[in-house]
Parts: sequence; structure tokens; C-alpha cells
Amino acid sequence: MTPFIAKAVYILMSSAWYVVRFPHERRARKTPVARSARDWREIALLALGFLCLGILPWVYVFTGFPQAADYPFSPVRAWLGLIAAVAAIATFYFTHRDLGRNWSVSLDVRKDHKLITEGVYRYVRHPMYSAFWLWAIAQALLLPNYVAGFAALFGFGLLYFIRVGREEQMMLDTFGAEYRDYMARTKKLIPWVY
Ligand code: SAH
Repeated sequence: MTPFIAKAVYILMSSAWYVVRFPHERRARKTPVARSARDWREIALLALGFLCLGILPWVYVFTGFPQAADYPFSPVRAWLGLIAAVAAIATFYFTHRDLGRNWSVSLDVRKDHKLITEGVYRYVRHPMYSAFWLWAIAQALLLPNYVAGFAALFGFGLLYFIRVGREEQMMLDTFGAEYRDYMARTKKLIPWVY
């Protein structure tokens, strides 16, 4: 793999990521919200996510900015990046399929929200965040730039660690024992491990 192809792979995969999400975003706009824990912190984290997973890597691919943060390209890393990106998009697809109308970009409980514990949700309780971690790893492996490559690990990492506890509390407040039992039999991100 060459640096040019790695960048093309990144842009293609990044577009595929959005193609998977788009129909769910449209439906989410029409699905009523019963209660929400969105606040300024969530808005700031979403904006940071957009910067780190969208703006910074795309600007880097099309302009080379910030060139001073470049480091030598490695074909092996880029191939691993491609594998991570494919795994990320597949996982992302299945989580959206299984979560359906219960999905939100932030901390919302929908009207008639159902707790999903089947499909990919049978193995871990945050598989969509697993997909984002895989995606962040893919970005770091495909783009040999300290800023653009590592941005997603930083931006999504911050979002994940600030949000996940609040999300679980929201699910406990909504589903009580049902979610507590679900927590007891699942890991967060990696089946049987973590
Ligand atoms: N953390 C999950 C979902 C991310 S989307 C994952 O990583 O796969 C965030 C929204 O999903 C939250 O607003 C919450 O209402 C909803 N949610 C999280 N887990 C859920 C579950 N098991 N069943 C139904 N909705 C869930």
C-alpha cells in the first residue's frame, strides 16, 4: 500500500461510515424523545468528535495540513488500518440494525424505548462504541500524522470515558433491574474481556 492509497481508503471508509449512519439519523429526527440527559457537556463532546473524526482527518487528506506532524508511512500499518476500518464499519452496521429506533447520537430515551439485549448487544453492551474505537484505531493506522491520525483516539476517547458512566446510569434509571441484570451478564466493549 502507498500513502496515496491509504488516504483514498480512509476517505472511502469514512464515507461508508456515514452511509451506514445516514438513514438512522433521518429516522431519529422523527422519533419522539421521552427524556434526555443532553447538556452542554454532551454538545461540546459531540463537536469535539466532529472535529477529530471529520474535519481534522479530511483537511489532512486533502491539504496535507499539518505537515510538521507527519511521520514516516508504513505499508504494514496501513494494511492493519484497512482491516480495522472494515471491522469497524461492519460492527457499526450491525449495531444500528439491532438498536433500530432506540438509537440517538446523544443521551436520549425515546418514547416507547426498548432495551435491546440481542444481536450484537448480546455480547457487549456498548458495541457501537466498540465500532468507534476500531474506527479511531483505523484512522491512526491509515494516516501517518500525529495530529490527524491520533485525533480520533483523543476525541472519541474523551467522549467515551465521560459519557459511558452517565449512559449506564440513564439506562439504570429507565430500565432498573432489567438493565442491572443485563450489566451483570455482559462486558462493555470486548466480549468476555472488558
Ligand atoms: N452505548 C450503546 C448505544 C450508543 S447510542 C452502544 O455503544 O452500542 C446511545 C443511545 O443508545 C442512548 O441514548 C441510549 O438511550 C441508547 N441505548 C444504549 N444501550 C441501549 C440498549 N441496550 N438498548 C436500547 N437502547 C440503548
